[in-house]
Amino acid sequence: MIQNVQILPRNEAYWQDNEWKKLLSTAIRDPNELLRLLELDIAELPYQLDKDQSFKTLVPLSFVERMQKTDPSDPLLLQVLPLSEESIRVSGYSNDPLGESTALAQTGMAGLLHKYQSRVLFMLATHCAVNCRYCFRREFPYQENRASKQDWHQLATYLKKNPQINEVIISGGDPLAVNDAYLVEFVAFIEQIPQIIRLRIHTRLPVVIPQRVTSKLLSLTKSRLQMVMVMHVNHPNEIDDKFTSAMHKLAQAGFTLLNQSTLLKGINDCPKILSELSEVLFSAKVTPYYLHMLDRVNGAAHFAVSNKDANVIYKQLQANLAGFLVPKLVQEKSGEPNKTLVDLTI
Ligand code: SF4
Repeated sequence: MIQNVQILPRNEAYWQDNEWKKLLSTAIRDPNELLRLLELDIAELPYQLDKDQSFKTLVPLSFVERMQKTDPSDPLLLQVLPLSEESIRVSGYSNDPLGESTALAQTGMAGLLHKYQSRVLFMLATHCAVNCRYCFRREFPYQENRASKQDWHQLATYLKKNPQINEVIISGGDPLAVNDAYLVEFVAFIEQIPQIIRLRIHTRLPVVIPQRVTSKLLSLTKSRLQMVMVMHVNHPNEIDDKFTSAMHKLAQAGFTLLNQSTLLKGINDCPKILSELSEVLFSAKVTPYYLHMLDRVNGAAHFAVSNKDANVIYKQLQANLAGFLVPKLVQEKSGEPNKTLVDLTI
């Protein structure tokens, strides 16, 4: 006999807090479909698609909506479309440009990197909401580095053995690809470790799906930890009203908001575009923080901007903007104790 089970109605907040998952589940995974949505004819493209995609196409519709229809050179499209150039092997490029496998071996723990003295990076998630073609972790062996909840105690032991660490950075994959309940539990766990004063979240998820900013995510600022969220936005066209409104909510809740961009050929290698990016970010309460040189990962060489060109672009950016709107031009060098400022005298 069927029991008389009472089904509790789910309220508006429940649906709002879960809308991002629905948007993620409908993300585009086929480059031909993406081109079709943008009314682009594959036969008339000024480039060819990569047929051998080990790093799959993934882009949510909410990001596609910000692309310009019929423009094959749209800067958002080119960040996610797999081109044939990805198959070309270029000297100086590798699957692990930052030596992360060595750094992981040094901590001896799945998903834990300790590259810089006072902070560790913990990979909370092994997937993203968007697959960016220039990603330095595009070849990262996530399956071997899947840290489970059982590993958190090992993380706590590592932190206690290294009392100089005062900040935990969560990354991935995209750390906001995990459920809110998991995040809340992780923050509560870290909070119990007195030496940790700050939690930093590196994410692109609220950029591609602004609905990821849920009421539960906002509630993380009730923690005693200082909460910093670093967005990854590369082009002003990524910023729309939904993103801006999500950033306002995060700022109001108490998150410190920063942005890091990657300098990408054909996308944002222009002082005018980068100046506009800084201005719109700041209007959305996000401070421009880093402008990264490309990490030399296999498959991404066509995005590289030379140091010489980067210097010219950066000097113009400095001339265009108030000092607090100019991100630091940096590159990461494997084995260095911090990010390296790009030498502007070269
Ligand atoms: S969201 Fe970040 S980690 Fe994920 S593919 Fe893009 S750049 Fe890489």
